[in-house]
Amino acid sequence: MFETIAVNGEHVIGVRVTGTLTDADYKAFLPVLEELIEKKGPVSLYIDMEDFQGWEAKAAWDDLRFGLAHDVDFRRIAVVGGPKWVQWMLKLSALFFSAEIRYFTPDEKEKALAWLNESDEAQKDACLEPEPEPELHPYKNILLATDFSPHAGLAGRRAREIADKYQARLRLIHVFDDIALYDDLYEPLIEERFLLQQTLQEAAQEQLSRLAEQLGITEEKDVQLLLGPPKATILDFAREQNIDLIVLGSHGRRGIERLLGSVAAGVVNSAPCDVLTVRLEENG
Ligand code: AMP
Repeated sequence: MFETIAVNGEHVIGVRVTGTLTDADYKAFLPVLEELIEKKGPVSLYIDMEDFQGWEAKAAWDDLRFGLAHDVDFRRIAVVGGPKWVQWMLKLSALFFSAEIRYFTPDEKEKALAWLNESDEAQKDACLEPEPEPELHPYKNILLATDFSPHAGLAGRRAREIADKYQARLRLIHVFDDIALYDDLYEPLIEERFLLQQTLQEAAQEQLSRLAEQLGITEEKDVQLLLGPPKATILDFAREQNIDLIVLGSHGRRGIERLLGSVAAGVVNSAPCDVLTVRLEENG
């Protein structure tokens, strides 16, 4: 039969098991144990098995079913005394249950209780000392990447506002994507193409300088026209310059049918830092 016994420890339940356990023993005892678990929350279990002789077959099945159902409700289980085979059985149980299970000889009762209460103390300490929160650093080095679209225009104003708030340095880049001028890879570079590229680049530089002025970016080195594929170039720049916030428009010059434009999505996915994508309301 089962009976509860008084043991030291706020979250320790003491149980004595004697004789051969029957299905009826389980039926009578399990509701008592479940009520205690309900009251105390996760508990440790002290099981005195000094006079335990074994189970009837059905009772062994009840035991396993109860153990599986309440696995997470037990922190530690100390089994004290009992036949030699109980020790082997405990080793096997450890494979099925996440609670720590340990065997103690009858003269180790105090040690068993100390071990059970130790888990209680550890739990209390864990509750008292929560994991320290990671530090929240203010932004120091903000990057605005623009393609001169209306979305990027709004992103510029937001970037300025955040830079002012954090007293951060604001950098401005535009990436000149010259792939369209070289799409015919094997054709020799003809002069018109070269001239077209130069004209476009100059226009981009002018537009960039105007935007820098509007945003109050006065340092020349904080405004750069870069060459290359936009997404990779923005990401490389952010890594090399230790940027801690990239500000972009949620969309660019092309349509807004997707949640994010392709440059925006690529930057959000691979950025080494925070990314803010600024959205222009359709009717805004
Ligand atoms: P997209 O993903 O192309 O729709 O563009 C989204 C945002 O990415 C734009 O609003 C810009 O802030 C930025 N962006 C796109 N293309 C460039 C570029 N060539 N140079 C710098 N920023 C860009």
